[in-house]
Parts: sequence; C-alpha cells; structure tokens
Amino acid sequence: MSSEGFWIDRVTSEIRKRKQEPIVLSTGKTPSGPIHIGSYRELIMVSALERRLRSLGKEVKVLFFVDSFDPMKSIPANLREEFSRDVVEELERYIGKPLCDVPDPYGKCHSSYAEHFAEEFISTFAEFGVYAEVIYSHRLYERSEMKECVRLVLKKLDVVKKIREKYLAEVAKLDKEIVVGEWSPVMVVCPRCGMLAPKIAGEVKPNRVIDYDLESDKVYFRCNSCGYSDWVPLSSARVKLSWRIDWAAKWFIFKVTCEPAGKDHCVRGGAYDMALEICREVFGYEGPVKVPYEWFTFGGKAMKTHKGITFTPREWLEVAPPEVLRFLVLSTDPMRHIDFVPEKVPNLVDSFDTVERIYFGLEKPRSEADEFKARVVYPLCVPEWRLRRKPARVPYRLAVYLVQLGDLLGEDKVLMKAMDFARRYYDKPELDEEDVKDIKRRLYMASNWVRKYAPDRMRFSICPEVPESIKKSLSPEQRQALKEVANVLETEELSEVELQNRIFKIASDLGIEAPKVFQAVYLVLLGKPFGPRLAPLLLALDREWLVKRLRDAIA
Ligand SMILES: [Zn+2]
Ligand SMILES: [Zn+2]
Repeated sequence: MSSEGFWIDRVTSEIRKRKQEPIVLSTGKTPSGPIHIGSYRELIMVSALERRLRSLGKEVKVLFFVDSFDPMKSIPANLREEFSRDVVEELERYIGKPLCDVPDPYGKCHSSYAEHFAEEFISTFAEFGVYAEVIYSHRLYERSEMKECVRLVLKKLDVVKKIREKYLAEVAKLDKEIVVGEWSPVMVVCPRCGMLAPKIAGEVKPNRVIDYDLESDKVYFRCNSCGYSDWVPLSSARVKLSWRIDWAAKWFIFKVTCEPAGKDHCVRGGAYDMALEICREVFGYEGPVKVPYEWFTFGGKAMKTHKGITFTPREWLEVAPPEVLRFLVLSTDPMRHIDFVPEKVPNLVDSFDTVERIYFGLEKPRSEADEFKARVVYPLCVPEWRLRRKPARVPYRLAVYLVQLGDLLGEDKVLMKAMDFARRYYDKPELDEEDVKDIKRRLYMASNWVRKYAPDRMRFSICPEVPESIKKSLSPEQRQALKEVANVLETEELSEVELQNRIFKIASDLGIEAPKVFQAVYLVLLGKPFGPRLAPLLLALDREWLVKRLRDAIA
C-alpha cells in the first residue's frame, strides 16, 4: 500500500470537492439481533475519515442511524439457541412488527428488542475510538421533517415509480419483497394489530399505502395481517418509507456528505445508486459520496462448528485491544475482503505492535508498506494522547506463555516478568501507571484467548515433576544436551533467537539431530515430546526453577 493509493486520501479529496460544511458522515445498522464485529468496518472507516478531515481544519459530524423502525423478519439462530421455547415463541408473534415494538428478550434492561441490541453495540463505541450521534429511526419518523419527506414522496409518486422501474431489474435480483404486491414506497403500522410488514405464508407483505388524499392529508391502507383498512391522517399515522427511499430521505434531512456501504448495495445500478437518484430527483439533494467496502467475515473451524455464532465487539475486547481492530480495518483497502479468525489474534496484535514500534523509532521498517502503516495508519488507530507517549507493552505471544505458567510462577511473578520484559523491549526503565494497566489488560486478554481460541499446539501445562519413566528414557546425548542447556541458561542473557541458535549448536556439537534436544526439553518440562515454540517458553519460565528442573531430570 502506498500513500497515493491510500483509500482515506481518495475519499477525503472527493469529500472536499463538495465544499460542504459541516461535513456529515453517516453509517447505520438494523438491530435485528446481536451486532457482530464486522459491523465495525464501516464505523471505523468513518471514524478515520472524521479524524483526517478534522486534522485538515474541517468541521465534521458523524451520525449513526439505528434502523429500529424496520420490521422484524426472523429470530436469529443464536437467540433460538439461547432462549427457551416459550421466549422464542413469544418473539415469533412479533415477526412483521417494527423492531422498536418488540419486547427486550432479556427483560426490562431496555425498552425494546431494537434498543437492547443497538445499545449493546453502541456501548462499545468509545472503547473503539468511535464517536457518533445516535439517531433511532422510529424516533426520526415522529419528527416533522420526516413526515414532510413522506408527503413529498407521495406527491411525487410518479417520479419515484419511474426511478424504481429503471432499477427494477437490479432491485428484483436483490430484494424480492419490493416487487410483490401493489407497490408503494410508504408503509403503515396497523393501529389495530401493530403489524408493519406481516409474513403471510412465508412471504413478507408490507402494509402499503394504497391511496393518498392531498386535500385532507390522509392515507388509505389495508392491513395484510388482520384485514383492517382505513383512511388515517398522515400526521399521526405511523408510516415508514421502504428502505431505499428511507435511505435517501435521511441523506436529505441530515445533508449527508459521505456514507460507506457494503459492496452488494454499491454495484452499478444497485440500491445505493437508486437511493442517490431518489435523493436528487425527489428531494433535490445531491446525496453522499459512495464508498463501497468488501465483506468482513469469520473463518476458521471454531466459528463454523457453532451454528449461528456471532463474534461481538464485547467478545473482541475480551481477547484483543480495540486499536488492533482499527488497525486491521484501516490497513486493509476497503475493496479487499477481511477474514477474521480468532485463532490469529496473537499475529494481529504482533503486527500492530511492530508498526507501533516503528512509529516510535524502536524498530526499523522492513518494507515500504510497514513504513507507510507506521506513519499514516497507526496515528488513525490510537487515541491522540498515545501518539505523544511511548508505550511499553508485553508482546501478546509472551503473554500467552506467561499466563499458562500462572500455576507454577504465581500471578505476581507473571506480572513482574511481563513488566520486566516490557521495560527492556521498549527501552523504558520507568513504567508508568498506563503501561502497567496495559500490561495487566494484555495478560487478562491472553488468558481469555488461551481458554477460548488457542489451538492445541499453543496450549501447555508444566508437569509438577519429571516422571521416572521419562528420566529413564533419555539417551546419554540428550542428558548431555540438557546439562549444557542448563549451563547456558544459568550463565548467559540470551534473546529468543540467540537461545534458539544455541540449542541448535549444542545438538550439532554433540552430533545429534536438533529435534532430539527439543524433544528432551519438552519431555522434562511438559511430560510430552512436543509443545509451543521452545525458546520463548524457556525465557518465560523462572530461570532458577528451570535450571533446577533440567538438572533434576538428569540427576
Ligand atoms: Zn436489554
Ligand atoms: Zn392489522
């Protein structure tokens, strides 16, 4: 990635051409169930654009639309698993009603189903460095500006229909619901049964407005669920625009300058283009700069074995720092697919640390891409105060080893070792409160990761003592090698790489294959002939204890 091709620069310059102030950036989400980590892609993109534009002296507003007025379409698989049959059956009765009218399945913690899942997501914004004004669409539809948009749509129905026809081929491919039945872009929540878009024999049939009387400002509709029909005043009826038109109305009301969207909506002639045309032709507003982005998915076996599992932002925070998610999103071009595998968290954190160390001059960049990420991407990932303060962190990989030695070393010693390493690795003799907090947090995250996502080869436990059978199984060369490894550890301060090389040298001097030496060390430590990478494991252990263990094994 070079700076000329950095997507933020491309989008920023397009936004600036609009000469609009304040610049309004928006994103949105339908709270149809637990909101997973992939939804952060769009938010982090917008947050980074906001920072970049502010640094250019622009006034910027960020909006987050919660589509709480959308109808409930189904019960997500993970909620079906989580809740009892009674609760699921109760929820099923609400399919077709607006999400803001569905009760919170968790009880009284929120006013609705929509609010529960939206707030669960929004409550993590600050930790991920995202700041946005939250707008619930069911509230927005109560406002006069939105009613005015609905009126405008009804008055210009011919224009709307013509545009829709133009896009129909594309629309039909993407959304069957929009082409069935008597079409009108305005739907009504039935005052008798509360349905907005009931599912009849498996098919969604929205309660569309059939007629509009300009004079009395009343709309006529028929409920597809209970059959109720009536003329109702537009001013008091609970009406909703179908989503492409709804999108356009929001852009118009808030004068949105830029909104990213998933690539499926952004294809030429797709939903985004249709909404843009509606925005121009019906509301007379140019509409936002379109920024398409690719999928953010989960790979790996762990995610596939549990059907319906989602990886939420809270789950991310349990195992990885929030700035690492920003780094993952911002260092990937929006048109490239991100596949997140929880198993890879240590690699992700490591590559973030490397770039951070380059930023602070602790490491030399090994490639142009690394240099670019350190100079341009890193500052968009961390809070601003962090840019003026060199951190001292415990590498995630080391933390993964240390936390598994907790039983042997004790918690205090684990923390001491982590702090000691951070001091040396970051050349910072005095750690401050923030560093210690960060180190503790990483140890906590690493232990969660080991428990939940670590592959078997990364898990280990130290056996309390060396079994006699293992002592007897060691060859004379292996015994000699253990003795020499113990001597090296007792007398020399070696880095991971140096220690690794030394073990190879011991093996070759003794005329045996290196794996034989590794095997011997694993056997006397773990009671099995294999384990995680050896050098970091040895360095994570208590030196005196380790030397004694190696010598005991050959005594
Ligand atoms: Zn709740
Ligand atoms: Zn009804």
